Amino acid sequence: MTAFNLQTSPLRPEKASSFVVEAGDPFIHEIRQGQIVRIVDLEGNQSADTMFYNAHDYSDRYSSQDTIREQRNLYLTAGTRLLSTEGNLLLTIVADTCGRHDTLGGACATESNMVRYGIEKRHMHACRQSFVQGIQRWKHGLEKRDIASNINFFMNVPVTPDGKLTFADGVSGAGKYVELRAEMDVLMLISNCPQLNNPCNAFNPTSLQVLVWEEPAQSSPGV
Ligand SMILES: [Zn+2]
Repeated sequence: MTAFNLQTSPLRPEKASSFVVEAGDPFIHEIRQGQIVRIVDLEGNQSADTMFYNAHDYSDRYSSQDTIREQRNLYLTAGTRLLSTEGNLLLTIVADTCGRHDTLGGACATESNMVRYGIEKRHMHACRQSFVQGIQRWKHGLEKRDIASNINFFMNVPVTPDGKLTFADGVSGAGKYVELRAEMDVLMLISNCPQLNNPCNAFNPTSLQVLVWEEPAQSSPGV
């Protein structure tokens, strides 16, 4: 059992660029080295399925395996260093008022919906389709094959003593957030999960907010 490492941020939202991502929508945005990005779970227990890429080489991307191995912990929280497949440090989680984020469960797909919830769920929109939508909007050489391992911010997927994954009751709540500092130029791709079959979001997907502080190095704490 991991202790939750709750940490609030001194940064003020009115100084940031703000974007709202509706449930079921993708969001793609470049975060430059030194910038801070905050993802806010506006109504609680919403999953922000997220991938990160080296902005200068999309084949170098977030790696759940390397991140877990290097920090010797299955869960992500304040202090976690997100590593890429090439061993580069993409971002560091610098604040977290939720306390635990999953990177084992993967993103929902029409295929996994059928296996988990029934064959008749095949037509339902899933995160992997939102990821494809996002990269189609972005272009710049990103393709379907670039959709690899991801983070599920705000999702609680504990591993049981016998090694199984469980989708547990959420540990997030309305207004909780996670904040990351870009350690290099990165491209962030979010799918605000449209899942209607999983009780972890009370069968009710809700909006996320993304805040980006453009010049955090020039603003003193609390400003
Ligand atoms: Zn999903």
